[in-house]
Order: sequence, then C-alpha cells, then structure tokens
Amino acid sequence: MSTDLEKEVIRLYDSGLSGTKISQSLKKSKKKVLMIIKSLCPKSEFDTIKKFWSKVNKNTDNGCWEWSGCKDRKGYGEFRIFGDNYQAHRIAYMLANGGIPSNISVCHKCDNPKCCNPDHLFAGTNRDNMIDLLLKGKKPDTKLNPQSVKSIREAFKNGVSRAELRQKYNISATCLNSLLRGEKWAYVK
Ligand SMILES: [Zn+2]
Repeated sequence: MSTDLEKEVIRLYDSGLSGTKISQSLKKSKKKVLMIIKSLCPKSEFDTIKKFWSKVNKNTDNGCWEWSGCKDRKGYGEFRIFGDNYQAHRIAYMLANGGIPSNISVCHKCDNPKCCNPDHLFAGTNRDNMIDLLLKGKKPDTKLNPQSVKSIREAFKNGVSRAELRQKYNISATCLNSLLRGEKWAYVK
C-alpha cells in the first residue's frame, strides 16, 4: 500500500518534475523524495539510462563513445544518479554486462578515459590495471603506496573526514571513494 505522500511524489514525477522540484513543492526532504522515486517508480530507471546515453557522443572517427558531461580530474566521465557521482565508463560497462564484480576496475583498451564504448572496456583487478599501464609505458598513480593506503583507511575509520583526507594526500574524490570501497588497492589489507 502506498501512502498519500508516495502517491503524490509519483504523480509529480510522472508529470515531468525533477526530484528537486518535487521536494520543494511538497516541502519534504530531497532524500526522502528520491528514495520514493527510486523504490516505486519503474519509469525512473528508464529515464536515468536514457539521460546517461544522451551524454555519450557515438559519432567519433576513432570508434570511441565519448562522454560529453562533467569529468573528474583524471578525465573520466562523471554521472550523478540520485545524488551520488559514478564514473561514466563504469556505468556503461554495467549497462552492457549487467554488473561489475566487487574489487574489479573497469579499464580502457583504447586508453581514452572519457570513452564509454562497452567494446573498448574490460574488467580487471587493480593489478591488471597496473600491468596494463606499465605495458603502455605509463606510470601508475605514484601519489599513493600500500602504507599510505592503509593509513587513509584507518584514519577514515577513526572519523577523519573525506575532505581532510583528500587534502592531506592530494587525491580526487573518485580516487578516495574507490580506495575506501576497496575497489582500488584491493590487495592492501
Ligand atoms: Zn574507446
């Protein structure tokens, strides 16, 4: 059974309003509104996927499908889903393959960070990614080492904020998040 609030949120969403507009017009928190949309509206998933591909330019000479939206410091596309940022090429891989096993990086065969062509992507462990970079003659990220990775994870557990950690180690939010989730540097325990 849906509550009156849930019914109202879905009615407004179906009429074309964004999550932000709905939370403003109903004077409810955006988080709550987004939760309702996410859990109750089958159309929201379709809309999100449509919006994602609308930011990908498939008409390129090199066969890469290039992300035209926001990018992070390393040039990877960023896509926001219900308030959280995700790397665009990881979403493209997930949409094509149904998911990403945990502790796995999605790497580019074409070496073009903004590329979202599933045919140019492969899943590998952090180690594979490193070997791939070395084979391509590139240096892996040298800002971090196993010791600093351990320190970052421990500091975070002890309540040090993400902002402080990013500043102290001079790393991007994407890098920090995947490190904390254990996707990067998975082998450091
Ligand atoms: Zn490509």
